[in-house]
Amino acid sequence: MTEGHDFTGRTALITGAASGIGAATARWLDQQGIARLILIDLDGDGLNKLDLSCEVETHAADVADEAFWQGLEPKLDRLDHAVVNAGIGTGGQIAELDFAEWRRVMAINLDGAFLTLSTALRAMRNAGGGSAVVTASVTGIKPVPGIGAYGVSKAAVAHMARIAAAENAGHSIRINAIAPGGVDTAIWNSPELQAQFAEHGREAVIAQMGQTTPRGRFATADELARDIGYLLSDASANVTGTVLTSDGGYTL
Ligand code: NAD
Repeated sequence: MTEGHDFTGRTALITGAASGIGAATARWLDQQGIARLILIDLDGDGLNKLDLSCEVETHAADVADEAFWQGLEPKLDRLDHAVVNAGIGTGGQIAELDFAEWRRVMAINLDGAFLTLSTALRAMRNAGGGSAVVTASVTGIKPVPGIGAYGVSKAAVAHMARIAAAENAGHSIRINAIAPGGVDTAIWNSPELQAQFAEHGREAVIAQMGQTTPRGRFATADELARDIGYLLSDASANVTGTVLTSDGGYTL
């Protein structure tokens, strides 16, 4: 169902589009009547399973692969929106995290976001304007123990969005970050949690984790898609360089 937004004739690029928040955002934009989606994910099969009615171009690719972006950029003849969303979670305190794991998270969550956003911004400048949303996290705002590399990567991408917003306002491009709290997606299917899911059921474990949120539960990916959609849409024409928390009150 459309929600009164007009994405007619527009093209959006979404990374991490095969699952969770990225897939929900692709579906939401499709429902709002977007003309074309460029969907990128490591999981090419997942991308091809999305049932969308607009024109779709899929790429099974790693967002941290500079050569992929160098190959894609000349083909981006029109780009109006970008959702810089692919990311991975990880655990580990700063004092205990090994460097290889730190680098792995930074390569995807930070370097990958830089490659995505910088490529998209050049294409949007050529198109005469646009809007982008970077998926950050409440863990980039509130220092949550035990997920050091992840939290740092998310604080960094939120700040990257703010810097890019200041740099591109004169090009009619808006860039905002969204900072979700817990969202019930596959990112929570870590090996440690899998054992708990098997014992207590996935929904019960996620509900338990949601109790640290004043709202009392995790968000759905569709709820996040609507918030991202607002930031992409003309309804937020005066909003740039903000970090929108969509967290059920977690950061209160
Ligand atoms: P998800 O695991 O359902 O989706 C992430 C997608 O990104 C997957 O399809 C995965 O294949 C893809 N991906 C991972 N690494 C990639 C790479 N190198 N190149 C291309 N694609 C890659 O998880 P999600 O919750 O939908 O995550 C989306 C974003 O939201 C992430 O940036 C995540 O950090 C952020 N986020 C999630 C939550 C949450 O609770 N789910 C909270 C805050 C922020």
